[in-house]
Amino acid sequence: MIRTLSLTCSRCGKAFSAQDHLYYQDDFSVQSFQDIKLVCDDCIRAWKEKWQIAHAEFHEHNYVLTVTITLQDGTVYENMDCTPMEDTESVITGEDIPPEAQHALYEYYVAFARQQEAQQLKDCFFSKGEDGKMVADITTVGGEQYDKLAFSVEEGYLKTEQDVPDYILEGLVTAYKSYLAQEQMLSTASQPAPRMPQRKPMPESQWNTGDSYGSGNSGGGFGRRNKNPFGGF
Ligand SMILES: [Zn+2]
Repeated sequence: MIRTLSLTCSRCGKAFSAQDHLYYQDDFSVQSFQDIKLVCDDCIRAWKEKWQIAHAEFHEHNYVLTVTITLQDGTVYENMDCTPMEDTESVITGEDIPPEAQHALYEYYVAFARQQEAQQLKDCFFSKGEDGKMVADITTVGGEQYDKLAFSVEEGYLKTEQDVPDYILEGLVTAYKSYLAQEQMLSTASQPAPRMPQRKPMPESQWNTGDSYGSGNSGGGFGRRNKNPFGGF
């Protein structure tokens, strides 16, 4: 059966003509070729023109990466889930983005990832200050330094005496937790845990049978002093 498919844009609704290729919208709900969502050249051009990225800001929280994109026309897409693809040097988002914009987004991502890396703690040494407060000497990968940063733990929250950026605080919390865990491990190793009393019965020959045993209980019915060896127990 031969059928006809008219070239009608699914976005602007206009009829269009095509040369050597067609644009269509990927859509898994499309069952039949007739329902295919064609997109005209004009709409594609407008879409590409719209996707001029003015600014992109990435956030990472609990290993979930999101991005807020501001386009040059002022449109803002907030906190979109996104996935950077190293092999194609692009960032995929939930929104349909032209490949050029995906690449542009990747540049922003690389800058973000570099900054994240620089903000990691390279060194963090703990000691007790003269007043007994804990202090930390911190160096980040990027070379930032915090010397003798005093902090305390109040109601389970770590507080520093001076204001520090969130990434310093996060790094400090992680480092201090592993420091405490290590301390605990070391103190357990130097003081062996109390052992259970031995339950193994003593052999008969080693039982104390007399004089040196229980000298203070001559009047009692306890022990082998009793004439009846079984009576005292
Ligand atoms: Zn169109």
